[in-house]
Amino acid sequence: MSSNLSSSDSPGVIDKLKLPLDSDGAEQTEVGNYFVANYPPFSFWSPDNKDAVYEVLNSPRPEDTNLGVYFHIPFCRKRCHFCYFRVYTDKNANEINAYLDAGIREFERYAQTSYLAGRKPQFVYFGGGTPSYLSVNQLTDLTNRMKDLFPWDETEEVAFECEPGTLTEKKLEALKEIGVTRLSLGIENFDDHILEVNGRAHRSREAFRALKYAKTLGFDQVNIDLIAGMMDETPENWQKCVETAIEQEPDCVTIYQMEIPYNTTIFKEMKESGRISAPVANWPTKRAWVDWAFDQFEQAGYTVNSAYTVVKNPETTKFVYRDSLWEGADLLSAGVASFGHFGGVHYQNQADVGPYMTELDSGELPIYRAYKTNHEERFIREFVLQLKLGMVHPSYFQEKYGEDVMARFPAELKKLEDEGFFSFGDDEIRVSREGMLQIDRLLHGFFLEQHRDARYT
Ligand code: SF4
Repeated sequence: MSSNLSSSDSPGVIDKLKLPLDSDGAEQTEVGNYFVANYPPFSFWSPDNKDAVYEVLNSPRPEDTNLGVYFHIPFCRKRCHFCYFRVYTDKNANEINAYLDAGIREFERYAQTSYLAGRKPQFVYFGGGTPSYLSVNQLTDLTNRMKDLFPWDETEEVAFECEPGTLTEKKLEALKEIGVTRLSLGIENFDDHILEVNGRAHRSREAFRALKYAKTLGFDQVNIDLIAGMMDETPENWQKCVETAIEQEPDCVTIYQMEIPYNTTIFKEMKESGRISAPVANWPTKRAWVDWAFDQFEQAGYTVNSAYTVVKNPETTKFVYRDSLWEGADLLSAGVASFGHFGGVHYQNQADVGPYMTELDSGELPIYRAYKTNHEERFIREFVLQLKLGMVHPSYFQEKYGEDVMARFPAELKKLEDEGFFSFGDDEIRVSREGMLQIDRLLHGFFLEQHRDARYT
């Protein structure tokens, strides 16, 4: 499917992007999550397993496991129509301060455990929601207190998610000062009509302004997020969107394919009108659009380095958070609904601010559910997540887990090879472009039998 179109003015470009938007039988976008963010799937995690988290926290600190710290900011200016996260759009400054205080109390509890005391994070990540919704004072105070508990002097990356409309030059200066190294801008599209129809709070002028400030301030790395197949997306606009992104010269671009999970405004409207497929492009169309975008970025000198990302300079543009997590780093995750893991035990926090704060007020960790993985599940987790990078080395799994992946999954690997998605070389399993464009769908074949039909991954 990969095209070699060399010019955006080529008459073939638009045709290439014009796959049927709503043709019968063409893998319509139905409701549900397809993105594999973790393993085993979240639906297998249970409140009954919370003790396993405490067992790890009461054990000695590990000598050779990297630690990441994540903090979740669940506030947004406005709820996007495709958003399925628990976000709050109506909290005032006092309520936000109370939430940040609760988060610090959570970090304090963790800092007192034998497993985490004295450890310094290799990477820090602020996700949401909208971390950039916080004021300069809130950001400075929050990060100072976090650093007191888990110092950042050995931290290789501090990543921070932003909604462009919340960024001022002053706030970006503060983020630089705090130590943010990877600034991630949720631009999604450069067209104001598409941003409006999909319920985004920002408009393109704010995106351009944020990109300009970020460049002036010299962050180590600026990433922009785009989504292929938002409501009302057209081949012509997608082409323009990709070309605009290239003109802006970000260090990294992350491209998602639009999915419509339950709990979104779009799903609710589908339900009311009795629609089965979502009012967005079908999967072959979205794959073609991302494929075309990857080609354009490659021609502009970028390198595709995962199923979702292109980077300008693969030598200098690393994504420590992703790579460390996919190699089994511990993740201390705080904040409402956030999920992390220690020593092979996954956990997720309470999903609503009320119970989250109540648990912390009563001296408990606000953990809602957990899952204790076994050796085989940890191996599969790393294997499927690393496949998203487009290549894995079987020797890595042999050395770390004593598992011969070629012998462990002979039928699945052969099937994916026959379908043109995988190929094999000397200590390499390579994923083709076609495979990369639908990687999340392909990973389920490596899951243990009992996890295969889970839709919520
Ligand atoms: S900005 Fe992100 S978290 Fe906030 S409503 Fe939109 S999609 Fe959801």
